[in-house]
Amino acid sequence: MDSSHVEHDLVNVLFTEEQIQQRLAEMAAEITADYEGRDLLVVGVLRGAVMVMADLSRSMPRHLEMDWMAVSSYGSGTKSSGVVRILKDLDTDISGRDVLIVDEIIDTGLTLSWLVNNLSSRSPASVEIATLLRKPEALSMPVEPKYVGWDIPNEFVVGYGLDYREKYRNLRDIGTLAPHVYS
Ligand code: IMP
Ligand code: MG
Repeated sequence: MDSSHVEHDLVNVLFTEEQIQQRLAEMAAEITADYEGRDLLVVGVLRGAVMVMADLSRSMPRHLEMDWMAVSSYGSGTKSSGVVRILKDLDTDISGRDVLIVDEIIDTGLTLSWLVNNLSSRSPASVEIATLLRKPEALSMPVEPKYVGWDIPNEFVVGYGLDYREKYRNLRDIGTLAPHVYS
């Protein structure tokens, strides 16, 4: 679906499909260079990171393995509940592995700082984070993504995997959700 199909639900389009692909290609080039000669396990955080995983991984001209985790820190609204639960764990033993967590957005940073701690306790060789978006609040959290697509204002955004109540994930672009949709 394109932003024209939901234009009344969006305040603006932050990033178009083309801009997203361009930025992911740059990030993929950086990651490919950094992990040269290493065995890379990419861990996608379900469900929001599905699109980022698909496009970022295909932009890398090298072998990699993919695994997935599902965690929940949000209810169905637009605010974090503060509690993280594992809904689906990895199928892979990550001890001694170079792990790159791929996520679509860091908001408060709660989910990823918890996830990095959790994965670090399993004796991996390394754990890094690649995120397409980061909000300002995350800057004060103990989470340091090595790869960040863009820093964005503290507004609720949807599209390209990002949802509001499970909708808008299939929007090609990323846009700011209009307050009338959730208030
Ligand atoms: P954090 O734990 O506050 O960093 O939140 C992380 C998760 O909250 C993300 O992986 C998203 O699933 C969700 N989230 C945070 N901000 C947004 C947003 O603006 N739109 C949609 N989902 C969001
Ligand atoms: Mg997520």
